[in-house]
Amino acid sequence: ATIVRGVLMLDYDLHCHSAYSDGTLTPAELVARAAGRGVQLLALTDHDELEGLAEARHAAELHGMYFIDGVEISVSWRKHTLHIVGLKIDPSYPPLVAGLQQVRSGRGARAQKMADELAKVGIGGVLEGAYRFTTNPNMIGRTHFARYLVESGQCKDVKSVFNRYLAQGKPGYVPHQWAALQDAIDWIKGSGGIAVLAHPGRYMVGRQSMGSKTMRELLAEFVELGGGALEVVTGSHTPAQYAEFARYAQEFNLRCSCGSDFHGPNESYRDMGRLPDLPLGCRPVWDDWKAAPVVKAV
Ligand code: AMP
Ligand code: MN
Ligand code: MN
Ligand code: MN
Repeated sequence: ATIVRGVLMLDYDLHCHSAYSDGTLTPAELVARAAGRGVQLLALTDHDELEGLAEARHAAELHGMYFIDGVEISVSWRKHTLHIVGLKIDPSYPPLVAGLQQVRSGRGARAQKMADELAKVGIGGVLEGAYRFTTNPNMIGRTHFARYLVESGQCKDVKSVFNRYLAQGKPGYVPHQWAALQDAIDWIKGSGGIAVLAHPGRYMVGRQSMGSKTMRELLAEFVELGGGALEVVTGSHTPAQYAEFARYAQEFNLRCSCGSDFHGPNESYRDMGRLPDLPLGCRPVWDDWKAAPVVKAV
């Protein structure tokens, strides 16, 4: 760990994206950036996709960095879309591979519907434009639309596109059925990994985070179904939310994870690495990994 302005910073980053999903860097570029910023233990967690892991692992070896295979699975739970990060997964586990293939398969038709909805509010030609921003067309998503709408001058940045067009309730938002929570957890656990509820502070009802009643119901169900950890420190949480979700983790006996959720330079809440240490009382998700050869020397 490193001390920056008196704060203990972790050199672990267990959540980030490459161009195989909606990041802008190749896995090798992402790993090089992480290495340059002092990250010692990295997990690549592309949305619904495992294709970048081999390249990232190879690059991590060249940089002398420990690498964890990860994924971030899109899940529908009640009326919410949740993101479940899987860490230490086996990318060759057939049910995981087949499950993710199924999750990805709906993205093309969804993108078409999004383009149709945006055309209704006078923004045409978006589908082709959005696809130009993909590296992996199977993973077309809202971020690619957002980048195109910035390029074409509709909005000043990606964040504003979401606020105006792509967030729930906005004209380009199309409801979608993702994986079931039970399935996502089963694929992750079945492959030897641990399921982490990502950025719990970002599941909104209107302009507010989901209330504590719904959060407790979600966490109870998550634990019941085999979920193992809560992402306490993430780029989009405030320090107050680090404390809030550390308390939930204790209440529900969950381990705690941390990651930047980096998508690309100038586009992310937080750059890679140097994340604030987990609050006191958190049991880190990597505690269990000490025996594993991959982190023996950390
Ligand atoms: P999708 O899986 O196609 O629905 O896209 C989800 C992705 O959109 C997330 O992983 C984020 O990268 C991005 N995203 C969602 N909401 C926002 C927001 N308010 N501002 C910027 N990016 C966002
Ligand atoms: Mn994303
Ligand atoms: Mn996410
Ligand atoms: Mn993410």
